[in-house]
Amino acid sequence: MINRRSFVGTLGSASLATLWPLSARSAPVGRVVVVGGGMAGATVAKYLRMWSGNTVAVTLVEQESRYTSNIMSNLVVTSQMSMSSLYFGYGTLVKKYGIKQVRGRVEGIEQLDKDGDSWKVTISTGGVLSTEYCERVVLAPGVQFDRVPETSTPSASATILHAWQAGLQTDQLRQQLAAMQPGQTFVMTIPPKPYRCPPGPYERACVVADYLKRNKPGARVLVFDANSGITAEAENFGYAFNTLYGPSILEYHPSMRVASVDSASRTVTLLDASGASHPVKADVLNVIPPHRAGAIVQAAGLANATDVSYAAVDVRSFESTQRPGLHVIGDSSKTTLPKAGHVGNQGAKICADAIIKAFNGQEPDPMPTANSACFSPVSNILASWLTAVYQYDPATGSMVIRDQVTGSTAATEAKAPTTGNFGKMGTWYKTLMGDTFA
Ligand SMILES: Cc1cc2nc3c(=O)[nH]c(=O)nc-3n(C[C@H](O)[C@H](O)[C@H](O)COP(=O)(O)OP(=O)(O)OC[C@H]3O[C@@H](n4cnc5c(N)ncnc54)[C@H](O)[C@@H]3O)c2cc1C
Repeated sequence: MINRRSFVGTLGSASLATLWPLSARSAPVGRVVVVGGGMAGATVAKYLRMWSGNTVAVTLVEQESRYTSNIMSNLVVTSQMSMSSLYFGYGTLVKKYGIKQVRGRVEGIEQLDKDGDSWKVTISTGGVLSTEYCERVVLAPGVQFDRVPETSTPSASATILHAWQAGLQTDQLRQQLAAMQPGQTFVMTIPPKPYRCPPGPYERACVVADYLKRNKPGARVLVFDANSGITAEAENFGYAFNTLYGPSILEYHPSMRVASVDSASRTVTLLDASGASHPVKADVLNVIPPHRAGAIVQAAGLANATDVSYAAVDVRSFESTQRPGLHVIGDSSKTTLPKAGHVGNQGAKICADAIIKAFNGQEPDPMPTANSACFSPVSNILASWLTAVYQYDPATGSMVIRDQVTGSTAATEAKAPTTGNFGKMGTWYKTLMGDTFA
């Protein structure tokens, strides 16, 4: 699908191969508009420029003036890190790599030819519309959250936050936690998978429990998980839940789904596996709702069937299997890879490589690999990690865990949470964010 389209054909691969090294002096071999400047979008924009020798023209459209990282945001909730440590600007991507950055929200994507080789992207900036034209569009808008049924009229003082998209809510949840009194209860709920950052909710439960243990005597965290058990790093989070904290500080309840929320009384009603209903009252209520592909992915008709929350892609290129010419990367794509920033960065590189190859008349890499690595703090000084190497499996057309070096076919987690891992976490974060934004 990726190679049969006419824009490559009209130039011819031989002439493209000649044009490629001439870089800035030549007309671009192709134009790409990237929607969303998060972990996946910023990476694909940078690597499209870098790996094409600047022969691909890239426009990066982001609605915010800077990126706020979800990664590490749980440590901002507990006041261990500052909000500003989560901010990343687009200046380097513009200056060093020659990416055109547009501040605005993409409102529409229109296909201009029958093959998907020509697109018009409509951007709204403060109500003013502008357009960009390109041969490929990469959608990287992250996720949008489902509405949780409300049984009351919420008052401003009873805001129920998810803080699962870092930004204002992260700081608000930090304030709610800091204002808790000894003996009070922090209730959090975990949506059914697939959700963004499999270890993230357990990480939050742990660092909040640690914060309460050190600062608010007698206060507790109650965790209600829609899944039947801990979905990632089960050994280390199980150890943290049971040994570091224990039920007097942290209670974990699997197979409990949110039915509704009463914001005014900060009560969440949960359904257990048998369908019985359990109202639970909180002092701080942190409901992470189920989520799905970003709104623009739904609007482009890529994930709007009632039972399809994310956009199906060919993972050798991250091109939509529904609409050739559109690529979907990061959390919005439906793959066997976990929804994580590190993985979004890796998938973006597979996508960038495939687009450059397509512009030059080549097939995508038939056997791409991707690495997943994630550090998880479980207290203010201890952290664990989880890692896996994925490879494309032609038999299933999906990425499977297959580490050619170790032979491993399963994700590996740290033997135990340690202070050493906590130190390495800082290096990993800096390296990942540098690879994405600098
Ligand atoms: C608490 C928490 C902790 C986490 N910890 C980790 C971790 O330790 N390791 C890890 O690997 N992952 C972690 N994650 C997951 C990680 O943050 C996400 O998987 C990752 O950010 C997804 O990248 P993305 O590019 O798909 O989306 P995002 O990073 O959310 O970026 C999407 C961008 O698109 C923009 N956008 C959306 N729609 C439009 C539009 N129409 N027009 C213009 N711009 C638009 C948004 O403003 C946003 O900047 C964590 C997540 C959370 C919530």
